[in-house]
Amino acid sequence: MIPTLLPTYARAPLSFVKGEGSWLIEADGRRFLDLAAGIAVTALGHAHPKLVAALTEQAGELWHTSNLYQIPKQQMLADKLCDQSFADTVFFTNSGTEACELAVKMARKYWHEKGQPERSEILAFTGSFHGRSSAGIAAAGSEKMTKGFGPLLPGFKHLEFGDHDALTAAVSDQTAAIIIEPVQGEGGIRPVPDQCLKGLRELCDTHGILLIFDEVQCGVGRTGKLFAHEWAGVTPDIMMVAKGIGGGFPIGAVLATEEAASGMGLGTHGSTYGGNPLGCAVGCAVIDHVSDPAFLAEVARKGALMRQKLEGLVASHPDVFDSVRGAGLMLGIKCKVPNTDVVQSGYAQLLLTVPAADNVVRLLPPLTITDAEIAEAVDRLEASASSLETS
Ligand SMILES: *Cc1c(COP(=O)(O)O)cnc(C)c1O
Repeated sequence: MIPTLLPTYARAPLSFVKGEGSWLIEADGRRFLDLAAGIAVTALGHAHPKLVAALTEQAGELWHTSNLYQIPKQQMLADKLCDQSFADTVFFTNSGTEACELAVKMARKYWHEKGQPERSEILAFTGSFHGRSSAGIAAAGSEKMTKGFGPLLPGFKHLEFGDHDALTAAVSDQTAAIIIEPVQGEGGIRPVPDQCLKGLRELCDTHGILLIFDEVQCGVGRTGKLFAHEWAGVTPDIMMVAKGIGGGFPIGAVLATEEAASGMGLGTHGSTYGGNPLGCAVGCAVIDHVSDPAFLAEVARKGALMRQKLEGLVASHPDVFDSVRGAGLMLGIKCKVPNTDVVQSGYAQLLLTVPAADNVVRLLPPLTITDAEIAEAVDRLEASASSLETS
């Protein structure tokens, strides 16, 4: 008999009932150190007092009105995001997937309005992840996500991650946009080198192509800059954000330049919930906190500290671990044993991590994690590795 919950997830037998900072408390009282953060979502940890206050204050005032009316906190959050980024305009969604939908629609509408509707093709990369909607799976293109869901949304071409020549050759007078995660998340924590992002920007400028950055996972402070692309000193035309921006409340966004958004006039897009007062109240609190340069500097410092400790861990367990990669507090350990074994053995050490493709274990702690918690996390990984060596 089918479970009453559609069985699309292989869930761990853990039920968390409370969260405090970097810790999750199981129904049986055990305290787990959380390097999953709800998959890079709880950027300020669990139950951060500022976010609890923002949400509960808003909840006592007004939950929802729809976008038929002005939503002051939505306007405030849009202003903050434009103030802190390349963007001139923002549309709010409820998830990263919905942000992907709009990014694709925006790019195609742009060329349609320019009188070049044949320019509808979007170039994307192997190993990428852009969500589970029809456009999201067509963009990522991996068989694991697309098999059985055809016919797929047409107009996507997939290129090998890192193959510059193939990319240059794929550009044509049909190319509308290139979509890329500055740091691949689900694909196994694969950062795109700064010079490659620069090269992409140049390629797009040369051919008038729109550049879309998917910062759903790597954005909002995760790498030690508010947005990951800032490290490369280039900006996109369109950017997708979600996960961290709500700190656990479901909210996403598409940020764009005035030019890239120029096709999206009255009535071209909408969302009942998007930019709802609750989500935007929390989003404002998250952005205020994370965009503080001192906070971002701390993320970068703690990322470097954690990476250094992980390098030591890998060196002392060469049969279990292969290497460390990532940026800031978006770290991955490539494993020599199955990554799912490492994640599983972590549960016995009361440590939460996330598997990714390419046999990588993802470490995505709250950005508020302390130095002592980083040391504790690496100790627990050490114990996991030892348990795998003796088993
Ligand atoms: C998680 C993710 C998405 C999809 O976001 P949802 O909120 O799960 O819809 C899209 N792109 C990237 C890079 C992601 O990590």
